[in-house]
Amino acid sequence: MARRAENRIIINLGCVDCRERTYHSTKNRRNDPQRVELKKFCPRCRVHTLHREVR
Ligand SMILES: [Zn+2]
Repeated sequence: MARRAENRIIINLGCVDCRERTYHSTKNRRNDPQRVELKKFCPRCRVHTLHREVR
């Protein structure tokens, strides 16, 4: 059953360098109205890179 106010939404995180989508997470739409950016390990770049929310 879906909650009435869907403030917590599922997002995908993609590497900004190679565009590989390796992570998915959730965010609160009210706390993060803009795209979230997280440092994550990219298996293709094999280093920690910035991952940005993609839709
Ligand atoms: Zn990458």
